[in-house]
Amino acid sequence: MDFIKRVCYHKIMRKFQKNEIIQGKVVDLTHEGQGVIKVDNFPFFVENALPAEEIKMKVLKVGKNFGFGKVEEWLSQSPDRVQDVNVTYLRTGIADFGHMAYPAQLHFKRQQVVDVLRKNAHKPDFPVLETLGAEQETQYRNKAQVPVRSVNGRTETGFFRKNSHDLVPIHDFYIQSPEIDDLVNQVRESLIRLNIQPYDEQRKRGIVRNIVIRRGHHSGQMMLILVVTKEKFAGLSELVAEYSNKVDSFQLSINTSTGNAIFGSKFKLLSGKDYITDSMLGKDFQISARAFYQVNTAQAEKLYQLAYDFADLKAEDVVIDAYSGIGTIGLGMADKVAQVYGMEIIPEAVENAKTNAALNDITNAHYEVGPAEEVMPKWVQDGIQPDVIFVDPPRKGLDESFIKAATATQARTIIYISCNPATFARDVVRFEEEGYLLEKVQPVDLFPQTKHVETVALLTRKK
Ligand code: SAH
Repeated sequence: MDFIKRVCYHKIMRKFQKNEIIQGKVVDLTHEGQGVIKVDNFPFFVENALPAEEIKMKVLKVGKNFGFGKVEEWLSQSPDRVQDVNVTYLRTGIADFGHMAYPAQLHFKRQQVVDVLRKNAHKPDFPVLETLGAEQETQYRNKAQVPVRSVNGRTETGFFRKNSHDLVPIHDFYIQSPEIDDLVNQVRESLIRLNIQPYDEQRKRGIVRNIVIRRGHHSGQMMLILVVTKEKFAGLSELVAEYSNKVDSFQLSINTSTGNAIFGSKFKLLSGKDYITDSMLGKDFQISARAFYQVNTAQAEKLYQLAYDFADLKAEDVVIDAYSGIGTIGLGMADKVAQVYGMEIIPEAVENAKTNAALNDITNAHYEVGPAEEVMPKWVQDGIQPDVIFVDPPRKGLDESFIKAATATQARTIIYISCNPATFARDVVRFEEEGYLLEKVQPVDLFPQTKHVETVALLTRKK
């Protein structure tokens, strides 16, 4: 029977030729923002095609299980299509959803969370709350990491084309604060004027690999970091003279590696302080070069506020702030609860968190360096008894040893902030096995115009 089915399947399976033109309707969107067209059940992924659009598509590539196509002609267009943007440029990698109206982006992000909860957590149609959208839909990023390369003999700054290291020169980054764009452009022109060579990845030559800039959303303070291949080079003193008064922190990061990590292990302070200060929800935070800091401050403030509201904090609560970064989440609620314990793997960030507690006259918060999956079991052994646990892990989600230890405390509530719905859904399954119930999930759009989905969730201990 199986054999017959397979034979029939092969008989009817259509062969596709490269450059063949196919007409079809876009039935779906990948999480990367490519339209999906199915011909005889064989899917093609198509750039710049939105759901419900009828298109003529040219076949670019045919694989075993899927292919890639390119729009030749739109027979109909989606009402959600944004007409006045340069889609080719945005979809090169800077803004995967720049061609989709903002309300549709928000809807799509929510739907992704619904889908992943169904697929990975066996929760059909979980009532995920509407995505909390941003007022500022572009120019929101407070941080840039811009590669510097030579393009046709000219030093250029821009971004790498998707899945490549080809630099696309660009001077308006669209989703980044304009003050950051201005500084990138100024620094590039200074490099040209001072004849400081950009890095050449192939030949492993040249000096400047990246320009990294951070800008305090509320404070306006600027940190400028040049990622370079050596500590001393001609033109450096001129750069210091030019930028020491323009930025609050000017640093070198010396990166001699051939890998993809932006920063090297060594930093050198050229002028100002080795941190900038910004504020969130009315508290001040020092942020050093290596520390994580949410790139969309206005939306991150909404995210944290929502997390506190979900937690229903009480004055006598002992709270854990896991994956704490510079302490933004824990310190933001320290004056509403009895104790805050936070842990974080980057030592500089924990130094910031401790200073930030003092800066805001907070004496009931304790921050420790270490991997959450080791610190959490240790705290349980030490007898720390949390009422509420906040987790805010990187994309890979939580480790089993963390979940075991966290749930063993029988904390009343777990607040899970996630930047990856897939690992979040996986971890929800574990929490539910250990006696918790997923009650609420809400996406908050921290990254308008891009594919990134952030969510906050409430899990409570079953009675
Ligand atoms: N809560 C902070 C930081 C969240 S980002 C904020 O809102 O700003 C996730 C943080 O987890 C980063 O600071 C990262 O350095 C840290 N991290 C990554 N892996 C970790 C681990 N295994 N244990 C503890 N912290 C980790």
